[in-house]
Amino acid sequence: MSENLNKARNFLSSVFGYDAFRGEQEAIIDNVCHGRDTLVIMPTGGGKSLCYQVPALVLAGTAVVVSPLIALMQDQVDALINVGIKATFINSTLSGSERSQRRQKLRAGDYDIVYFSPERLAMEETLTLLDQCKINLIAVDEAHCVSQWGHDFRSDYLRLNLLKDRYPKVPLIALTATADKRMQAEIKEQLHIAHADTYVSGFDRPNIQYRIKLKDNPKQQLKRFLEQEGGSSAGIVYCLSRKKTEAIAEFLQSIGKTALPYHAGLPQSLRETHQRRFLREDSVIIVATIAFGMGIDKPDVRFVVHLDMPKSIEAYYQETGRAGRDGDSSIALLFYGLEDAVKLRQMGADSSGNETFKRLESERLNSMLALCEAATCRREKLLAYFDDHLEQPCGNCDTCLEPPETWDASTYSQMALSCIYRTGQRFGASYIIDVLTGSHNERIVRFGHNELSVHGIGKALSSADWRSILRQLIAMQYVDIDSEGYGSLQLTEACRGVLRGEEALFMRKDVRDKKSAGSVNRSKSQVPDLNADELPLFNALRALRKRLAEEQNVPSFVVFSDASLKDMVLKRPSSSEQFLEVHGVGRSKLERFGGPFLEVIQSEMYE
Ligand code: ADP
Ligand code: ZN
Repeated sequence: MSENLNKARNFLSSVFGYDAFRGEQEAIIDNVCHGRDTLVIMPTGGGKSLCYQVPALVLAGTAVVVSPLIALMQDQVDALINVGIKATFINSTLSGSERSQRRQKLRAGDYDIVYFSPERLAMEETLTLLDQCKINLIAVDEAHCVSQWGHDFRSDYLRLNLLKDRYPKVPLIALTATADKRMQAEIKEQLHIAHADTYVSGFDRPNIQYRIKLKDNPKQQLKRFLEQEGGSSAGIVYCLSRKKTEAIAEFLQSIGKTALPYHAGLPQSLRETHQRRFLREDSVIIVATIAFGMGIDKPDVRFVVHLDMPKSIEAYYQETGRAGRDGDSSIALLFYGLEDAVKLRQMGADSSGNETFKRLESERLNSMLALCEAATCRREKLLAYFDDHLEQPCGNCDTCLEPPETWDASTYSQMALSCIYRTGQRFGASYIIDVLTGSHNERIVRFGHNELSVHGIGKALSSADWRSILRQLIAMQYVDIDSEGYGSLQLTEACRGVLRGEEALFMRKDVRDKKSAGSVNRSKSQVPDLNADELPLFNALRALRKRLAEEQNVPSFVVFSDASLKDMVLKRPSSSEQFLEVHGVGRSKLERFGGPFLEVIQSEMYE
């Protein structure tokens, strides 16, 4: 083994308190320590940070980290300081004198790691400063922000190409959670690291349990979920509209939850307060539009609930990916309905993009719908979308845990398709269902559709059954929602075979959201679960953590992660030596926190 790797392993246990590297971490660290440019694609929670933090310690000098998340720099740096790493950040939130003090220390080589925002780094002033320092590596975090095609494009990132030109000998490591082949090429090109070695880890997040349910009184569904499985955990609830986030937050408050709204229409200061409370307090639920999320580094988010369907699988995967970064079991729960698809199609029609963009948007929406209607493993479908694949069904999603029944819907599908055709492909789902079930409402009579042969042909089924059929016909792309935004249903080329009776169509039976959510399979977690008799100690440790975090004015996970607390409960260390064995405890944390935690573990007071 190389000397560098030896050092890296030592730092992993003595500083970070972990037993082993995960996945490709070791190979990546080795590569960077050899001075090679490196591109890392690793899912959220995969452990990207260690890929530059460990080399920063192994190599002589200071590591420069570029991160767009100014609001989080303080927390990131606090976390590093707590494990004994000399870290700091330089950005616009600092006073002039504080900034110059830090610059001086940087010049003197007093730091292992320094964080910069991209705009600050690209300034000549900063570069001149760096010229005078011994830089051992440059890490570009959230590297997908250089992509002009991506949804997080930041123009500041385009200037980062000057880094490689100015410091050709310093290894540059770019990291992101999302980048397809095209985006990987774009990142390399933009950052001038054409020859970078690329490490792509699988996209799977095995500790997240995916569930997709039909929307049926979503407030009550959400309430039931929180009562049965929410516990006192932190979570995120996503809604499509600003108004709805506020209404849902109010509703959750009324049932005794600490819930805070977050959307782009709230004043900046209020948004910051809410984000801060979410990060700092233990059991806050944030109710947000998609404006919330980029760089939410909270490791112990236990659930992400969508009360509306996201507009693409990319968005869905990114939003649900905010759950369970710490590897502990977490839930991603989505409630959706036909009206979601119609609404999203309308929003797409109203958007200002060009035709190609609109077509792509509508394809993305179709894939999302197909995921919702899938009768097979959700994870297989999700991963397949990212060209990744699973050896076998995951056993940790709703369709694996409670396989849906399917039925032969060929005849009924024909009825629905002909009804859409005979009424002229100008009407929305509700109207089509009214015709099928034989309604004589005013509009139907006015258009003379009560005279059609399809009128009343589907009386045998309920409106809910018909909605299910129409939804699935849309998801299978036999039917399209018009692109002008009127919500009218139209036939696609693909439906001919079905109409002619040449193609059998199997559909999943809707499962109504049951009163009991069923038991959760927690076997996929990287963190063990506690028994009821272990909870008092766990809670006592949590309370201590909260007090210490408040004293230090840092989020509680900066003191210890839930995984560390659980490991303390399981190991019940009684000496410093044993405390060092705990997951996430290195020398610095032992020194800082060993005393008070050992005391609580030893005392019988909590029982
Ligand atoms: P990412 O940036 O890829 O989303 P992080 O770097 O924040 O992920 O890591 C996610 C969590 O996993 C953190 O709590 C981190 O401390 C933990 N972690 C990372 N690598 C290891 C490892 N080798 N062993 C144990 N825990 C790890
Ligand atoms: Zn599955």
